[in-house]
Amino acid sequence: MTGVVERPQAKPQAKPQAGPQSRTGGPAARRRLVVIGNGMAGARAVEEILARGGAEQFSITMFGDEPYGNYNRIMLSHVLSGEESDADIFLNALSWYRENNITLHAGVRVDRIDRFTKYVYSDDGRATPYDVLIIATGSRSHLPPMDGLYTPGGSIKPGVFGFRTIDDTRKMVQHAQQEHHRRVVVIGGGLLGLEAAYGLQSHGIEVEVVHSGGHLMSAQMGPDGGAVLRRSVEALGIRVHTGSRTTAVLGTDRVSGVSLRDKPDIACDMVVVAAGIRPNVDVAVLSGLPVERAIVVDDRLRVQDEEDIYAVGECVQHRGEVYGLVAPLWEQAVVLANHVTGADTSSAYLGSRTATKLKVAGVEVASMGLHGPELDTDEHIVFSEPSRGVFKSIVVRDNKMVGATLLGDSRKVAYLTQAYDRGLPLPEERIGLMFDLGTPGEDVGVAELDDDAQVCNCNGVSKKALVDVVKDGCNTVGGAMDATRAGKGCGSCKLLVKQVVEWAADGAVEEDPAASYYVPGIPLDKPSLMAAIRKQGLRSVSQVFTALAPGSAEDAKSKMGLASLLKMMLADQYIDERDARFINDRVHANIQRDGTFSVVPQMKGGVTSVQQLRRIADVAEKHNVPMIKLTGGQRIDLLGIPKEDLPQVWADLDMPSGYAYGKSFRTVKTCVGQDFCRYGTGDSTKLGIDIESRFQGIESPAKLKLAVSGCPRNCAESLVKDVGVVAVEGGRWEIYVGGAAGAHIRKGDLLATVDNPEAVKLLTGRFMQYYRERANWLERTYAFVPRVGIEHLRAVIVEDSEDLAESLDAAMQASVDDYVDPWSERDDQLTPGQFRTSLPLTVLPQVPVR
Ligand SMILES: Cc1cc2nc3c(=O)[nH]c(=O)nc-3n(C[C@H](O)[C@H](O)[C@H](O)COP(=O)(O)OP(=O)(O)OC[C@H]3O[C@@H](n4cnc5c(N)ncnc54)[C@H](O)[C@@H]3O)c2cc1C
Ligand code: SF4
Repeated sequence: MTGVVERPQAKPQAKPQAGPQSRTGGPAARRRLVVIGNGMAGARAVEEILARGGAEQFSITMFGDEPYGNYNRIMLSHVLSGEESDADIFLNALSWYRENNITLHAGVRVDRIDRFTKYVYSDDGRATPYDVLIIATGSRSHLPPMDGLYTPGGSIKPGVFGFRTIDDTRKMVQHAQQEHHRRVVVIGGGLLGLEAAYGLQSHGIEVEVVHSGGHLMSAQMGPDGGAVLRRSVEALGIRVHTGSRTTAVLGTDRVSGVSLRDKPDIACDMVVVAAGIRPNVDVAVLSGLPVERAIVVDDRLRVQDEEDIYAVGECVQHRGEVYGLVAPLWEQAVVLANHVTGADTSSAYLGSRTATKLKVAGVEVASMGLHGPELDTDEHIVFSEPSRGVFKSIVVRDNKMVGATLLGDSRKVAYLTQAYDRGLPLPEERIGLMFDLGTPGEDVGVAELDDDAQVCNCNGVSKKALVDVVKDGCNTVGGAMDATRAGKGCGSCKLLVKQVVEWAADGAVEEDPAASYYVPGIPLDKPSLMAAIRKQGLRSVSQVFTALAPGSAEDAKSKMGLASLLKMMLADQYIDERDARFINDRVHANIQRDGTFSVVPQMKGGVTSVQQLRRIADVAEKHNVPMIKLTGGQRIDLLGIPKEDLPQVWADLDMPSGYAYGKSFRTVKTCVGQDFCRYGTGDSTKLGIDIESRFQGIESPAKLKLAVSGCPRNCAESLVKDVGVVAVEGGRWEIYVGGAAGAHIRKGDLLATVDNPEAVKLLTGRFMQYYRERANWLERTYAFVPRVGIEHLRAVIVEDSEDLAESLDAAMQASVDDYVDPWSERDDQLTPGQFRTSLPLTVLPQVPVR
C-alpha cells in the first residue's frame, strides 16, 4: 500500500512557539499555508496553488486524520468490489509531498483553530502557526437514529459499517469474506448504497437494499427512471425494498438482522449504512467559525468574516448550497487558488450546476436539473426501454433544456450537459436530443464543447486540460489520460476523452506503446513476451510476473491472458495456478446472469444419439434443470445449474465437456451433408466431427467457432465462422478464415481450396496455431485476419513462405496430445471451495416449452 505515514507519538500540548517556521524570517520569508484535511478537495486546492507558483510563496503543511496520502475516494467502490487494489487509488504518493516540500502530518487530527493567534492545535500535541489556513475536512457517513446501532459501551455494533474511507472499505471486505457471513443489508438506495451493494455482492454474499424513498436514487431521478434502475439492479441479483425505513439493528454483541417499520425483519450478519453524509464541521464550530449546514464561505471561498481562513469541498456551504460530489470542489479549488496566490483576485465561485455523470453498480447514470416537468407548459420527452436498462428523460422549458436523466446510455451526455449549462439552441425535432438525429455528430459535438466543459467528472478534467496536454506534445490517448487522470475514475467518459484527444491532435494521434502490450501488466508485445518466456524458461503466471513485470508487480487484469498464452506455449509443461483463471475456467461452465451455470455436454459436429439424449433428459429431470435449450452451435444447453451441483451433474451425464465457456476452441457446426442431403458433395458431418475431436479444448486468445458445410448452399453458415469449410465440386474443400456473425459481422476470407479432408485438418490446425501465437489477447479472428492480411496468411500457412509450417504443426500436435477433459476434475477437486456457491442466486423462471 502506498502513502502510509507513521502517526507521531502523542506529545503533551505544546506552547505556541516560533520554530523553523518562524513568522519572521524563515527560508525566504515564505508565508505559512496550513491545510486541515488531506482529502480530495484539500489536495486539489494545494495542486492548484502549486500550479500558480504557490511553492515560492508558501511553506505548506497539511494535516489529514486518515493515516494515508491522498486517495481518490470515488474509487473506493472499485476497491470494495475487488476491481482495484487500494494501492491503485492514491492520487498523490508520499513522494509528491516530499518533492513539493509539503510537510504532511498523516493520521493527525486538528482539534482547534486559534483564529486570533493563528495557530492550529492537533491531537498529537502539536501547535502549528499559519498565515493562511484552508479547511477541507469533507464529510462523514451519517448514521440515522436506530435502535441497537451501538453496543452498551457506546461503540458501533460489530458488523455495522459506514462507507467513506479506505479503512471502512477494508473492514467491510474483511467482514464480507468471513465464511459464515452470508447476508448484508445496505441502508440507503442512493449512489453510495448501490455502490456498496454492488461491491459487496462480488464477495458472494446476498445483498438487500433498504431505501426510504419511493424509488432508487431519488435525489437524482424521477420514479420512472428509478423503476428502470431498480430493474437493472435487481437483474444483478440485488434485492431492493423501497419506501422502507429501518428502525433497529438486531443482535446483542453482533448484527443478526434489521427491523423495518412496516415489513418483516430481515436476517443478516452485516449492515452498511449509506444513508447520507454530514459535513465535518466540529473543528470550525469549536473554533467559533460561522457554521450553518456547513462552514459558510463567500464567492472567494473565504470563510465569512475571516481574512485568512478559506474552506473548500464538502465541508463548505456556499450561497446556501452544500455539495456532495467532486465536480463542484474542482471548481472551488481553482477559485480558492486564484485568491490565495493572488493569481486572479477577480475570480469568483458562483455555485455549481451539478450534472452527475457516473457508473453506479455498473449502470451508466447521468442526471442534471429537473427530473420531470413542473409546469403545465414544460415539455417532457421520455424514452424507456427497461429490458435493456435504458431510460432517457429530458425536460424543456421555454425552448431551453432544464433537466435530463440518462440511464444505461449516456452517449449524448456531453451535448446535453452543455445544452443545460449554456442554454444551447435545441433541435426542433426533440428526439434529436436523445439520439444522433439532427444534433451535432460526435466530431462536431467535441469541437463545439466549450473549453471549460468537464469531460471527466470524477477527476475534474476539462476539455481544455486535455487539449493543452495534446498541444504540449502528448499524442496518445493513454498518455493524455495519464497526464490529466481523465477517464481514470468510473470510466464512463473514456469514449469522450478519446474523441477530444483525437480532435485536438487533428488526426495525429499516435498509438499508445501500451496498446501493443499483450497484457497490460507486462510491457512487451506478444512476440517479445513469448521470446522472454522461452529464454527464461518461465512456466507459471507468477513466474512471468516476477521475471518480467515492472517491480515484479502482479496485475490481476493480465492473469487470464498470461495463463492462456503459457498453456498454449507449454502444453503439459505449464504450471497451472488457480487464481490466474476466470470463474468460467475455474469451474468449466458458463456463468449466467443469476449466478448459476450452464452445462453443455460435448456433441461433436452437432450429432447425437438416443442414449445421449436419454441421459441428458434424465439428468435434466433429476436436477430440476429450469431450462433446456439448443445452442447456436448445435448443442444442448442445461441452464440454471447451481455451482455446487456441477460435479454431480457432470458425473450423472458422464459425457465430456462441450467447451461452451472459456477462450478456447468451442464447436464445429455441421450441415446434414452427403449422407442425407440431396445436394451434399462432401461428408461435412464426418469432417466436422473429426475436426472437433482433434482440436477439442485447445486454448486460444479468444473463442473459436468453426463450421463445415457439405455444399456451397452453406447450411452450416461456414462463411461467418472463425474457420469455415465448404465442400465444392470435384471433392474439393474451401477453407475460409476470419468470419463472424455475432456483435460483429464479417464474411471470412478464402484461405485455400484443397483436395481432401486431411489437408483441411492440417491447414485448419496450422492457421489456428498461427493465430494462437500471433493474435492479441481477446482478438477474435475477424480482427486478426484483416490486421495481418489474407495474402500474408496464405503465404505463411499454405505456401510456407517463412518456413514455419513444421513448427506450427508440431506445436498444435503438442496441444492436441495434452487434452484432458476438464470435467474429470469432478472426482479430484483442486480446492475445497472450487464448487461452492459464491454468488447470490436470483430466482429465475422455470421455462416450459413455449
Ligand atoms: C464510496 C464513495 C464513492 C463516491 N463516488 C462518487 C462519484 O462517483 N462521483 C462523485 O462526484 N463523488 C463521489 N463521491 C463523493 C466524493 O468522494 C466527495 O465529494 C469528495 O471526496 C469530497 O472531497 P473533500 O475533500 O471535501 O472530502 P474528503 O475527500 O472526505 O476529505 C476530507 C478529509 O479530511 C479529513 N479530516 C476531517 N476532519 C479533519 C480534522 N479535523 N483534521 C484532519 N483531517 C480531517 C478526513 O479524514 C478526510 O480525509 C463518493 C464518495 C464515496 C465515499
Ligand atoms: S450445405 Fe449443402 S449439403 Fe449441407 S445441408 Fe445445406 S444443401 Fe445440404
